[in-house]
Amino acid sequence: MTDKLLCYDLHSHTTASDGLLTPADLVRRAALNHVDVLAITDHDTVAGLAEAQATIMAEKLPLHLINGVEISTYWHNIEIHIVGLKIAIDSPELGELLQKQALSRRERAIKIDQKLARLGIMKAYQQAQVYAQGEIVSRAHFARFLVDSGQVKDVSQAFKKYLGRSGMAYVPPIWCSVIDAVQQIHVAGGLAVVAHPTRYGLTQTKLKKLLTDFKQAGGEAIEVSQSRQSVKDFNLLSQYANNFALLASQGSDFHNFSDYLDLGKTEPLSKIVKPIWYNWPENKQ
Ligand code: AMP
Ligand code: MN
Ligand code: MN
Ligand code: MN
Repeated sequence: MTDKLLCYDLHSHTTASDGLLTPADLVRRAALNHVDVLAITDHDTVAGLAEAQATIMAEKLPLHLINGVEISTYWHNIEIHIVGLKIAIDSPELGELLQKQALSRRERAIKIDQKLARLGIMKAYQQAQVYAQGEIVSRAHFARFLVDSGQVKDVSQAFKKYLGRSGMAYVPPIWCSVIDAVQQIHVAGGLAVVAHPTRYGLTQTKLKKLLTDFKQAGGEAIEVSQSRQSVKDFNLLSQYANNFALLASQGSDFHNFSDYLDLGKTEPLSKIVKPIWYNWPENKQ
């Protein structure tokens, strides 16, 4: 089989972070959607991977699982997500980094809770924890609580009014640096990828600076093809992958399915970029 026939989705979330499907249901859905190679890339955790792999084996699903993670980093006061692919999930160094991130998450969640309490919204952290089925408590869980308790009409409003950068309960995170993330991904034997580069609201100048720093840190790839993406962004990212000599990745960033987003549903990469999977054994079945 040639790689042209394979469907890759290298960015997805489960209930181990802020996804809505369990790892078992996620791999079942991926197989149903004819995804051949799936990376689970939960926020700052690898906790969903074992269940996913066990389900693939037990149910003999025709799916290769790539061990992944999406690491939250802080770069010039901007939150940048770095995806690690093909990581050893038992790497002690990566484990240590993820433990620190988990601690930072808890500290941030307590501060978000305090800010919301001052605004009259009580017990938000406790409620967010009810929504979080894994150990990771994300702003997405706070958002679900704010929607279901009638504080806001939808998740987007929850981020706009409370949780996002300009929101009333925003708390700057204490994430690791881009350099740290790339280094620990490498120590764990993985490949480092800048997630959704056009979703940070960066100017072209800033985005180029990010890619320069990332490249200098030894990073391998950027996501070029994503869900719900304009042709303009797809072309721009293809161009940047080339200009910075970075490999191209693709992924749906699946959290839950909708009319316009699902596992395996991204535009194929253009011929002008080199796919991150160009030398992966999964290509040669
Ligand atoms: P955290 O990792 O706790 O900072 O939470 C970030 C997560 O919240 C992201 O991974 C998204 O899934 C979600 N998120 C961030 N901004 C928005 C937004 N404006 N609307 C909906 N979801 C968002
Ligand atoms: Mn998320
Ligand atoms: Mn992300
Ligand atoms: Mn993601």
